[in-house]
Amino acid sequence: DGAGGSKRTSRVRVAVRLRPYMDKQDEKGEGSCVRGLGPQNLEIINWRNSTETLQYQFDVFYGEQTTQQEVFLTSVKPILPHLLNGQNASVFAYGPTGAGKTHTMLGSQEQPGIIPRAVREVFHLVRAQEKEVDDWSYTIGMSYLEIYNEKVLDLLSPNTQDLPIREDKDRNILIPGLTHTQLTSFSEFHTHFIPASLNRTTASTKLNHRSSRSHAILLIKVVKSQRVPPHRQQTGKLYLVDLAGSEDNRRTGNQGLRLKESGAINLSLFTLSKVVDSLNAGVGRVPYRDSKLTRLLQDSLGGSAHSVMITNIAPEYKYYFDTFTALNFAAKSKLI
Ligand code: ADP
Ligand code: MG
Repeated sequence: DGAGGSKRTSRVRVAVRLRPYMDKQDEKGEGSCVRGLGPQNLEIINWRNSTETLQYQFDVFYGEQTTQQEVFLTSVKPILPHLLNGQNASVFAYGPTGAGKTHTMLGSQEQPGIIPRAVREVFHLVRAQEKEVDDWSYTIGMSYLEIYNEKVLDLLSPNTQDLPIREDKDRNILIPGLTHTQLTSFSEFHTHFIPASLNRTTASTKLNHRSSRSHAILLIKVVKSQRVPPHRQQTGKLYLVDLAGSEDNRRTGNQGLRLKESGAINLSLFTLSKVVDSLNAGVGRVPYRDSKLTRLLQDSLGGSAHSVMITNIAPEYKYYFDTFTALNFAAKSKLI
């Protein structure tokens, strides 16, 4: 505790990842509107005037050559041991649709992303710990949910309605009714997670890109129980979040449902940015309660939790405006 008894909260580490150039049909040809300047710096190049650039600094900048392994090793692996000490953690992928959020979080068979690597590592850490000391036992479990239009939906039990978010007397956030599946191995995780995540992406084509309009949230819970009296118990939670696309959906003249979706996305991403800002500034009220997303993450973002936000950006000029917006969101979140 700091002076005056106020609790110091941990800041959110902010990374930016640029994906490789892909769209050969881009209006400006082969040019990239993003240039890396160093391990923490980049600039974006104005699409009207290429001598006009804007420079940014972050905790880390991952250029287009950066591998999945490198992102995992430098941004995620170091925070995982805290889960075994009853602390919480969260990793977010933020950025416009098409910039690489799902690639970063989930990846592919050939290039697995943060989710499979992190879950594998959690199993590894728990097994190693069990070998060292045997007066604690551990269980690992998962939940998988989605926030869509400010509704909390269970992706492991697809017919449930909007689930409530509650807080217990120790300020832990709970979601009564959410499926929580115990896992005994990494391959068991695969069996449960892959169909649920495919379910989400295939449903999305029917529902007009739903996957880019909802936040997909994987929760991995490590529960540690003392085998001997006083039988203490500690829980460490890890949230792995593939956020909704940050592009401004209002610009494209959406109406009806799409407009409602846009409003919900804007509310939660805007609130997330305010939460991250106030955590990193270390002053002011943290407005967790202003959206479902931040309410849900309240006990795993700030406080004693370890958090990293990876802002994904794309190099093509057609993303210029979305890149600009995403970088400003992320830059505000960086402690200057
Ligand atoms: P988002 O989830 O933000 O909408 P995706 O992860 O689906 O974006 O990425 C869009 C496309 O770009 C996909 O085809 C993906 O495989 C590819 N991609 C994204 N990031 C990378 C990367 N770092 N290296 C190679 N391909 C990438
Ligand atoms: Mg995606």
